[in-house]
Amino acid sequence: MKSREEKDTVVLKGIGVSPGMVIGRAHVLHHHDAPIPRRSLDRKTLVAGEVQRFRKALKESEKQLLAIKKKVSEQEGIEPLYIIDVHIMILNDRMLISRTIGNIEEGVNAEWALRKTLDKYKEVFSKVDDEYLRERMTDVEYVGQRILRNLVGVQHETIANAGENVIIISRDLSPADTMQLKVEKILGFATDIGGKTSHTAIVARAYEIPAVVGLERITSEVRSNDQVIIDGTAGLVIVHPDPIMVRRYEDKMRHYKVMEDDLLRYARRPAVTVDKHQVRIGVNIEFMEEVPSALAHGAEGIGLYRTEFIYINKEKLPTEEEHFDNYKTIVAAKGVKWSTIRTFDLGGDKFMSDPKVAKEMNPVMGLRAIRFCLKEVELFKVQLRAILRASALGRVKILFPMISGIEEIREAKRIFYEVKRGLESQGVPFDRDIKLGIMVEVPSAVMVADSLAREVDFFSIGTNDLIQYTLAIDRVNESVSYLYEPLHPAVLRLIKQVVDAGHHAGIEVAMCGEMAGEPLYAMILLGLELDELSMNSLVIPRVKKIIRAVTVKECRALLKKVLTISTAVEIEYYVRNYMIKKFPEDFAEETP
Ligand code: PEP
Ligand code: MG
Repeated sequence: MKSREEKDTVVLKGIGVSPGMVIGRAHVLHHHDAPIPRRSLDRKTLVAGEVQRFRKALKESEKQLLAIKKKVSEQEGIEPLYIIDVHIMILNDRMLISRTIGNIEEGVNAEWALRKTLDKYKEVFSKVDDEYLRERMTDVEYVGQRILRNLVGVQHETIANAGENVIIISRDLSPADTMQLKVEKILGFATDIGGKTSHTAIVARAYEIPAVVGLERITSEVRSNDQVIIDGTAGLVIVHPDPIMVRRYEDKMRHYKVMEDDLLRYARRPAVTVDKHQVRIGVNIEFMEEVPSALAHGAEGIGLYRTEFIYINKEKLPTEEEHFDNYKTIVAAKGVKWSTIRTFDLGGDKFMSDPKVAKEMNPVMGLRAIRFCLKEVELFKVQLRAILRASALGRVKILFPMISGIEEIREAKRIFYEVKRGLESQGVPFDRDIKLGIMVEVPSAVMVADSLAREVDFFSIGTNDLIQYTLAIDRVNESVSYLYEPLHPAVLRLIKQVVDAGHHAGIEVAMCGEMAGEPLYAMILLGLELDELSMNSLVIPRVKKIIRAVTVKECRALLKKVLTISTAVEIEYYVRNYMIKKFPEDFAEETP
């Protein structure tokens, strides 16, 4: 029998968004949505006062966000303040303000008018196909809630009141709360809602704070002061763990720490094989906030900056200055040896607020990426100008996505030279020797890789799309995900063809699809003689560890053998067994 103090252990499974484990006391943050009264206004006398009240709440909200930004920026080493700026930008969004004032003028109070605007935004965002962009609505909602609280005069319980060394349990964390996690010395957090690509998740990873989101009912299972374990690696939260479980986790944490320390030893070392063949290791990023953690994990440069994420939360297209501010932060960051900035890879569906772009049946094969840029040339030029200007501050390479043939790259280059001449004539500084490259991610580009190689300075193979288009499987459709096989003989042959064509023409070939960061494939990729591998930062130490333990000679032999096998399943089986034998500690657990 359990005593009254002993409570049943509850294990909840969510989405682990930031690895690591921690045991501690919970602090539950109660975020109640601000109440929204509805009052009808007598147009003439009350409207002006309500508009003024709304503007005052906007000012107050901005003041609060600036105060958080100041507090966080005073702490050494905490960089990711960008999200606060995004929230301030949302606060000042012309559409948000004018729609709300329009609603007030129709005769309702400011709270009701704002809620109506937010609901309209919600409706628009909910129709978007893209998970990442859908999640951006949460940023608009956070900002909306802050304004509403200021309108109705309700205080928000924040992380700043939680006390140090606690685990935060909450329905959700606003980015403003998330920003303060490190300053307030929070051990970890768990939330009811959220996904892998939310800003909260990205910042948690950048801060290296264990976190699990999407737990659905964690706030109803935990009370402040309860003991909880957060296992961000497995995506688990254990509430009221029994003493045996706590001991097991203490052991696990010790092992994890030893393993991490052991792996992090590889982080700063170069990726050089035993027979002295060196591969450059880049990182794939979506936000400039990711740079410090990427460098700590051993990234040498930015192998892929997915700039389309600059377009989030925007009713309007970003200006040249907004682009430039993003690029300069990354390019000039200490320790970043090069930055490969990819011009934006947006699909038609992602410009939902732009009436010029029609909704497409199949946006993946539609007017996306370079095709969109070549059609909306002015928008493309704004980005190219900003990238070129940033190249005066550090080594920049420009990468064009989704090139399917020669005409596209020639047209992109023509526009690029035009922009370059414009900057030259205005005396704006930039790197005259900036390198241009293309993503090789469409099978037709592979087939004409020899001709494309004469047009550019480098290739970067985007295996995510290359596999999607080659094997005809939608990369986000779970029902065909079993067919998503990077080791498919067709895929391996295509990659080999690209590397050979690039090297034959004397240009470098990188890989920046997810395949590049899979430790299991590291030897195959070395055998393929890629010059650069760019990946998610957390896997860099594992990949470096493998590279440093092998010779290119044996990698070539492994590849040679693998290229004689005719099915993906057999290749995977062969490679896995090979790796288990060679690295028993690293791969044994992954045996199917
Ligand atoms: C790819 O297609 O492999 C790639 C790296 O680009 P994205 O995932 O952004 O399409
Ligand atoms: Mg791609």
